[in-house]
Amino acid sequence: MKDFLCPQCGAGLKFTTAYAVSTVCEFCNSLVVRHDLNLELLGKEAILQDDLNPLQVGTRGVFKKTGFSIKGGVRLNHHEGFWQEWFLELDSPTRDSRYAWLAQAQGEYQFLFEPVELPRQSASEFQVGATVAVPSEVEKLLGKWSSSLVKNADAFKAIDIRTAQMTHFLGQLPWAPDKNRQRTVAELSSTDDAKMTIEFGSDKTLLYYGQVLDFEDFKFQNLKEVKGW
Ligand SMILES: [Zn+2]
Repeated sequence: MKDFLCPQCGAGLKFTTAYAVSTVCEFCNSLVVRHDLNLELLGKEAILQDDLNPLQVGTRGVFKKTGFSIKGGVRLNHHEGFWQEWFLELDSPTRDSRYAWLAQAQGEYQFLFEPVELPRQSASEFQVGATVAVPSEVEKLLGKWSSSLVKNADAFKAIDIRTAQMTHFLGQLPWAPDKNRQRTVAELSSTDDAKMTIEFGSDKTLLYYGQVLDFEDFKFQNLKEVKGW
């Protein structure tokens, strides 16, 4: 991959995965977006004080025998708190999921595949408690990973709908960070820990799908040392 230099401090920038569009300079914390061969400087990124989180850029883990490594992350704030989403490079990417996400909220860890685009929908059509039918294409994708994930696929319930703002960016990400971007997401859950998240964008609706696992099941390596963990 081509070497890029930080437009702010001249240090080498890490674009180690083909799907990364932005990265935070490790030396000066500038947020840099890649447009083919040109770089755009988005300004300085505040350092995230995240002393209680054992996950970090560089942490490795496993989901259903597929290894992954954390390349970057984003923190999203909403009125009741925050959650974190980690951008994962897969050791064995597939056509359907070239990369993946790990969503971390209140001690819960959801592995989510690269999202599929749905016909545009509005968040206002959704209500907490509503049952949502799984699109057949998503059912097929889920079934490739685990038949147990689709066992109750008609029983996905909307358990939460919230709007959040991206406040911190870490490492590499597959899109250009935008702190003004609000994200409204509906979280859907089945009885067997399969998860779907619908993101209602202004131009498209994305469906993330995956599964909740216990922290230990991910067999994480290269965790950050956290006091009392
Ligand atoms: Zn720099």
